[in-house]
Amino acid sequence: MRFEKNVGERYRRSVEDAFATIIAKGNDEHRHVMNEIMRSDLLIRVQPVSEINASGITGVINSVKTNYKLATERMSLREALGEIYIAIAEETIDNGGQRGCEGTFVHEGRHAYDFAQTLESLSNADVNPLGIFNPTLYELELAAHKTSGDYMLCVDKDEYLEEGLGLMILCRESDGQCSVSDDGINTRLRDSYGLAVDANQGATASEMMGIVV
Ligand SMILES: [Zn+2]
Repeated sequence: MRFEKNVGERYRRSVEDAFATIIAKGNDEHRHVMNEIMRSDLLIRVQPVSEINASGITGVINSVKTNYKLATERMSLREALGEIYIAIAEETIDNGGQRGCEGTFVHEGRHAYDFAQTLESLSNADVNPLGIFNPTLYELELAAHKTSGDYMLCVDKDEYLEEGLGLMILCRESDGQCSVSDDGINTRLRDSYGLAVDANQGATASEMMGIVV
């Protein structure tokens, strides 16, 4: 991965620490996604929350260039990750500490990986039309929320579990143990995002990235 030029040393260290912690404490999926991102040219931006209106956001760096590449060449998953950026809010790092930074990269990292899988599959659509992967916003958010819940369980510290319970990503079983809550996540996606599996699933990944092929 690479940083946008204006990202200061302190923020770079926080991001690098978050990646190292996710790789150390996460499961195989977290490790795989983070390692692929680190070995790629994915662009990391750190911006004021007033500019991104979220704790983090994931998108295509330059959709005109990416469309041109898709039309003219094949793209591996790692090359596709190089078309993508993750922006994290300065406030997420300043106020959310390492937990906020880790949580944002677990969630947005899943989005970045799914966007890259979409680009890779579209670049090979002429030889493998049935292999096209183009999830809806509902499917993207479902995957990102589940992997966030899995991460909270992996870390298994009170502050992580409490956050997960508050967000309805986790629930507490009768024996007191926490687990990922499919019902809670679906409620959250419906109430906070207006998304549901049997109703509005939102835009597809290719539409969100501005891909026209
Ligand atoms: Zn998301």
